Amino acid sequence: MHIKEIYKAIYRHLDDLTPLPLDCGELCGKLCCSSYDDDETGMYLFPGEEALFANNDGFKIIDSDFTYKNSKCAKLVCCTRPCERSERPLSCRIFPLIPYFRKGSDVRIILDPRAVSCPLTHPEASPYISREFKLEVLKAFRLLSHFSEIADFLDALTDILDDFNTLRGNNND
Ligand code: SF4
Ligand code: SF4
Repeated sequence: MHIKEIYKAIYRHLDDLTPLPLDCGELCGKLCCSSYDDDETGMYLFPGEEALFANNDGFKIIDSDFTYKNSKCAKLVCCTRPCERSERPLSCRIFPLIPYFRKGSDVRIILDPRAVSCPLTHPEASPYISREFKLEVLKAFRLLSHFSEIADFLDALTDILDDFNTLRGNNND
């Protein structure tokens, strides 16, 4: 199966799952979706995911400063308008969760330490995040971590998460 088809299957599994059983965007005014007028702010695409956003004028793909194995440049997807739910890239579908992965270890799903503006990352809110949602995110990244380029990407992304956690004085639990 081509990686593009795997991303599409993962999207389908996450289509109806959300962090809370209600629209959390109603609680915070969609804080994580307010970057349409900014050409430089976007979400990371996981390796191979960019093929799903080519030729879609609702999105722009740019190179990020984040590099992984052999200086490969990670891509950012920047939305130019509010997207349809069915169009969302994986980073948006899993927010505010993120995979924490070291080669040779299992994937863990943690709250993204970069998501400081998301109310769901507050200690009193995080216990309410749906277990079903978290489990589906875990299954998706267990599958993706079997692809060597994605494993390299996730390992390098975990360096960034560690740096953020160190800065914030957190551990990764
Ligand atoms: S994920 Fe967080 S920032 Fe995004 S809409 Fe929900 S509560 Fe708001
Ligand atoms: S791609 Fe869609 S879900 Fe993601 S930030 Fe843009 S509008 Fe929000």
